[in-house]
Amino acid sequence: MRAVILACDKIRDKIRVGCLKCFKALSEKSGKFAEVDDLEIVAWTSCGGCPGFPIARLKLIDEMLKAEGKSFDVVFLASCMLMAEKNFCKMDLNEVEKKIREEFGVEVIRGTHPQ
Ligand code: SF4
Repeated sequence: MRAVILACDKIRDKIRVGCLKCFKALSEKSGKFAEVDDLEIVAWTSCGGCPGFPIARLKLIDEMLKAEGKSFDVVFLASCMLMAEKNFCKMDLNEVEKKIREEFGVEVIRGTHPQ
């Protein structure tokens, strides 16, 4: 499956050092990545920052992928988004998940790396 990872813009690391947990889980196929066969990460983006623009960001990713003749089947809401949801994020992740499914017709998986 072709996957897009959607991360919390406040927590993710801009140069990816702080995203090593995701990369490790990807290489080990552990955490939520273990739930998907033949996984190919086609894009890695963020919500765009508070108050959160995940659908707009995914529309942009969708356009860019289509321009390359590609698409995606699943969106991972990264573990940092779940951490943000528990602590300070004002977005309703249930609503985000619903909108992603409706707008793009893709699967949504909550979480990426093990905590
Ligand atoms: S706290 Fe929520 S809206 Fe703000 S950057 Fe993180 S995920 Fe996005």
